[in-house]
Amino acid sequence: MKNRFAPVLLLCASLLAGPALAQASGRVAVPHRDFAGVPAIDAAALSGMPGARAVWYPVSETMLLRVEGDPSVEIRFNAGVPFATVKGATIPLPLAPQREGGAFWVPRIPVVQALDSLLPGEYSWDAQAGELVWAPEKDLVGMSVAPSDAGTAVELRFTRKVKWEKFFTRPTFVLRFDDVALPVDTLPRKFTTGQIRNIGAIQEPKSAQLSFEVNHLVGDVTVEPRDEGRTLVVFFHRPGEAKKESPAPAPAAAARPDKLRTIIIDPGHGGKDSGAIGLKAKEKDITLAVGKKLKAELEKRGYVAKMTRSDDTFITLKQRPELASKWKGDLFVSIHCDAIAGDAARKAQTKGFKAFILREAESEEDKAIARRENKFIDESSESGAKRELSPVEWILLEHQLNLYSKESEHFADALVQSMGKTEIAKNGSGAGQAGFYVLVGAFMPAVLLELGFISNPADEKYLASPQGQDEIAARIADGIDQYRAK
Ligand SMILES: [Zn+2]
Repeated sequence: MKNRFAPVLLLCASLLAGPALAQASGRVAVPHRDFAGVPAIDAAALSGMPGARAVWYPVSETMLLRVEGDPSVEIRFNAGVPFATVKGATIPLPLAPQREGGAFWVPRIPVVQALDSLLPGEYSWDAQAGELVWAPEKDLVGMSVAPSDAGTAVELRFTRKVKWEKFFTRPTFVLRFDDVALPVDTLPRKFTTGQIRNIGAIQEPKSAQLSFEVNHLVGDVTVEPRDEGRTLVVFFHRPGEAKKESPAPAPAAAARPDKLRTIIIDPGHGGKDSGAIGLKAKEKDITLAVGKKLKAELEKRGYVAKMTRSDDTFITLKQRPELASKWKGDLFVSIHCDAIAGDAARKAQTKGFKAFILREAESEEDKAIARRENKFIDESSESGAKRELSPVEWILLEHQLNLYSKESEHFADALVQSMGKTEIAKNGSGAGQAGFYVLVGAFMPAVLLELGFISNPADEKYLASPQGQDEIAARIADGIDQYRAK
């Protein structure tokens, strides 16, 4: 049996072509399939990445993935062992690597995440094409626009200090950057500030530029570097305001410490998955509305905030933490509403919010909530996906739990404290601990927050009201501030 696995040594043809991995973009088709619901890819096919090679050691049944030019980048898999060694550190795998049909199957999600964190550039999985995709790392990670009476401030946040020049030939103001990668495809283009009409972005190999098309309500434009050059505040002054000191933009531009910068907001459910349903409201609508308000609130406070969904679309529970890791989140907050079955008296009694972290459920109530929140996995098209985590999965998660559970606990405590100041906190609150599927695979501190009971008429009314949603968003942001201050 041991010799049946033919490719003893897999060497990539482009190995001799030099270290091409740097900032190029590309894709490679990788055989993929599921093992009991865990998506897997053929590690041998990763040799198709330029400069990468996979080496198979048949005696020890070990595969090493290496990158030309950087001997420290090495991922080691052993057949039958549900752990991988990534740059010397051990990470748990949701699936033991295995040989089958001439391929060496390894779990896709942690492997793509490992590539993404080890190699320059951004690595992701294109599920439709079945291809591993990589692209140059983007340097611009956030942009916010704050109009005021004096003009409009556009804050640009970069991963590092950038070199820039400005040009202003009405009606177009241009910022040109040396050696900067812009997220050209995802940049918002239209603004309705009254002063800026359009934003354009051009990416060239060695430079990039952002252009702002402005109207007659712009006098002068100033650019102010902050945060040691990692943030640029572009201020479009109203005519006659130019000579004044440039006012601070509405968002607190103070940079967060690197420790806590990018917050991933995960509005629960969406699309065909409504979540729990109250008398009038649907969970998916409340979570999205609160998520959007929370994003705006966090950006005001100087965080980078990303949402796993920003409209009424269906995202699988697996994709949510994948996105979070791809965006290199520092904190993951999943937003949901609780619900309870029963008669009106029981529904009227049961209310309040609750914060959960990833841990084996201790109470029956927590188990019931975990079942409900994980329910959609069953009904989705993903074959063989599990309803609850099996004991084996729990063991495999141990490492991840140890790494992040203390931090997640601190974060949950902070949320419980700040949410305790809301209207919803009148009854029932606190931190529970249940194994929610959505939190699995988030390689960062993560909390699932049940905002309140949609099955309780008073809670529902509050949760569905703009005032209630504003208050909740502000309190969650307070919780994040508190967690960060610790
Ligand atoms: Zn939910």
